Amino acid sequence: MIRQGTALEEECRFKNFVINGERVAKVSTTKGEFTADHYVIAAGAWSPQLTRQLSLKLPVQAGKGYSITMSRPAICPEIPCYLYEKSVVAVPWKSGYRLGGTMEFSGFNSTIVAQRLQNLKNVAREYLRDPVGEPVLEEQVGMRPMIYDDLPVIDYTPFHSNLVVAAGHGMTGISMAPSTGKLVAEMIVGHSPHLDPSPFSIKRFR
Ligand SMILES: Cc1cc2nc3c(=O)[nH]c(=O)nc-3n(C[C@H](O)[C@H](O)[C@H](O)COP(=O)(O)OP(=O)(O)OC[C@H]3O[C@@H](n4cnc5c(N)ncnc54)[C@H](O)[C@@H]3O)c2cc1C
Repeated sequence: MIRQGTALEEECRFKNFVINGERVAKVSTTKGEFTADHYVIAAGAWSPQLTRQLSLKLPVQAGKGYSITMSRPAICPEIPCYLYEKSVVAVPWKSGYRLGGTMEFSGFNSTIVAQRLQNLKNVAREYLRDPVGEPVLEEQVGMRPMIYDDLPVIDYTPFHSNLVVAAGHGMTGISMAPSTGKLVAEMIVGHSPHLDPSPFSIKRFR
């Protein structure tokens, strides 16, 4: 798919980098090789699998989160509610309603532990008058890219001059996506950054 000058390759798995001195020359994928002036590793919790070949220290690990999507309950919150003490979020929209939360460090797996879903409902019952909608439409898990200091890495890699990492956005990667994309673009084209990038340096893990 090509839109606004951007080509998206779907179902395309990264295999390895082809390195030429201090630069990435191309990437090899399940859909062939691709060349570019600059490359960005933005593979969320999977990013360390892409940097392994480069011996790059990137301490991102998967923090599994759970969500239940339901029809709206009869008495539904009007705005998203963070049930703060229990770290559960209730999100309403026009035609649906979702409870989300939980942080499970169990590696990469899509196993759904029923008790964790039940906990989301139990917590909602403590805070909301009508906490659960019917029917349940989807029960889902997702991998958050967690770093122990809770800051992402948005930086050029130290040994390859045309390779940027943008990963490790933890629990707020959707909120941080526009700013991260802007910062990466500024780094690549050489514009002054719209925010101080130093807290996001990869060098903090050396
Ligand atoms: C239950 C739950 C609730 C959340 N709620 C919020 C919220 O309210 N607000 C918020 O801001 N954030 C929220 N998050 C966190 C947010 O989803 C993440 O921070 C965000 O998705 C990270 O974005 P990313 O692009 O870095 O990684 P991802 O979104 O994980 O994308 C990485 C992509 O890389 C692909 N990939 C991996 N390996 C390869 C490979 N070898 N080759 C090709 N592609 C590869 C993956 O398939 C994936 O598509 C929530 C997460 C969960 C689990």
